[in-house]
Amino acid sequence: MLKDKTAVITGASRGIGRAIAVHMAELGAQVVINYNGSEEKAKEVQKEIIEAGGRAHIYKCNVADFKECENFVKEITAKFGRIDILVNNAGITKDGLLMSMSEEAFDQVLRVNLKGAFHMIRFVSRQMLKQKSGRIINMASVVGVSGNAGQANYAASKAGVIGLTKSAAKELASRGITVNAIAPGYISTDMTGQLKDEVKAQIASAIPLGTLGDPEQVAYAAAFLASDQASYITGQVLHVDGGMVM
Ligand code: NAP
Repeated sequence: MLKDKTAVITGASRGIGRAIAVHMAELGAQVVINYNGSEEKAKEVQKEIIEAGGRAHIYKCNVADFKECENFVKEITAKFGRIDILVNNAGITKDGLLMSMSEEAFDQVLRVNLKGAFHMIRFVSRQMLKQKSGRIINMASVVGVSGNAGQANYAASKAGVIGLTKSAAKELASRGITVNAIAPGYISTDMTGQLKDEVKAQIASAIPLGTLGDPEQVAYAAAFLASDQASYITGQVLHVDGGMVM
């Protein structure tokens, strides 16, 4: 389905990004696994893909840094000649109640989750415009739609990602580039790993499909949006949340 496409996935050393890289490689894409702190984990993802017969490269870049993103995109464009798919998946949380939230906790989350996506779209879209084709997929969250107590910074960043997605979709549509967002609900990764079992059980009981999701279930949605079969879909937010928000 993604044969010979070049896919760049930010934050692919762990969790959802890792699952997307593995799945897109299974579907024939050559994947660039971006990481920031987890080099060993990124190498493990690369090894797993190569051992399964796929093609994978790793690249360190802090998506919160404008200049680093510029260099990242410049280097991969020079190396591969094209970028067909960009998945802006890198994300962090710094939860806390609004009244006690530090300015730094607010800024850091916005810098990685929202500005990171802007930086990568800013540079990758130039190459996609030249190609007159491309697929951009941004990882939002259900809380960007519904809000969540204790996550004002994170929810604001994800609501911003949705606005960014729709604006980019309108700007880039005439050049054959689609831009969509995925809004996962609670997915079992390191990000939700700190939750206590009783909290997870409480969350699961409020999800119509009754369980937390797996990273692979988000990866399948990302692969579809990246495929030729999704060519008439742009500016949308696809919820992968077991029915949490509808
Ligand atoms: P995770 O397991 O904590 O992994 C986060 C990934 O982001 C890691 O690969 C990490 O790389 C990377 N990352 C963090 N800061 C970065 C930076 N400055 N530059 C480049 N990469 C950076 O998280 P996850 O649960 O897979 O979440 C992935 C995405 O889905 C995030 O955008 C998250 O907000 C969103 N999401 C997750 C859930 C959920 O329930 N898990 C729900 C809704 C939305 P290093 O370790 O190499 O630094």
